[in-house]
Amino acid sequence: MNEETKKVKTTRPPDDVLEKIRGRDTVCVYCGKKMIYPWSKSNIADSAEIEHLNHRKDWDSVGSYIRDGKDVSTIVAYCCHTCNSDRRDQSLLEWFKTPYCTSKNIKYDTVAAFVRDYIDAYEK
Ligand SMILES: [Zn+2]
Repeated sequence: MNEETKKVKTTRPPDDVLEKIRGRDTVCVYCGKKMIYPWSKSNIADSAEIEHLNHRKDWDSVGSYIRDGKDVSTIVAYCCHTCNSDRRDQSLLEWFKTPYCTSKNIKYDTVAAFVRDYIDAYEK
């Protein structure tokens, strides 16, 4: 793997970008739960985790966003561990149909506004 490929496949945003995202996402972008920063072993369910809105590892990667000068905060969020581990690699619209989301009333209309923008751009 050459240096350029490694950069393109980066999935972790730079620390200053994560800082900005953390300032925006004070509650889980999906369920609205107040989250704990930093990640806490004693309260994993409420801990904030880095979430990639895209569900395909080879698509819209953080690295290519950085390389193209696009805003990484439009594809990366913080969400709670519970939501993150339930969604796994499903698309957002698919995930919203699952029992987890329907029981918690997580849907297009209830998630953070920038998540709706992401769905409008990539999942519709
Ligand atoms: Zn959540």
